[in-house]
Amino acid sequence: MELECPECGAIIELDEDETEIGQEIECPECGTILILRKRGKKFFLEPLEEEELEEADEDEDETEAEEEDY
Ligand SMILES: [Zn+2]
Repeated sequence: MELECPECGAIIELDEDETEIGQEIECPECGTILILRKRGKKFFLEPLEEEELEEADEDEDETEAEEEDY
């Protein structure tokens, strides 16, 4: 099957028999880590979200501010 990279639009060819839902696939064009998802009978690729990492950075800043108060 052929799936489109949501980041750069490149066509990524995947062997359905060798891929699993939730598997990480690196786009050969832009290097984005994509997760294979399935909605109904349709497969699609979704970028790996890194929001958790960004939130962790914010928490660190808050911790530093609290330390200054003590
Ligand atoms: Zn891409």
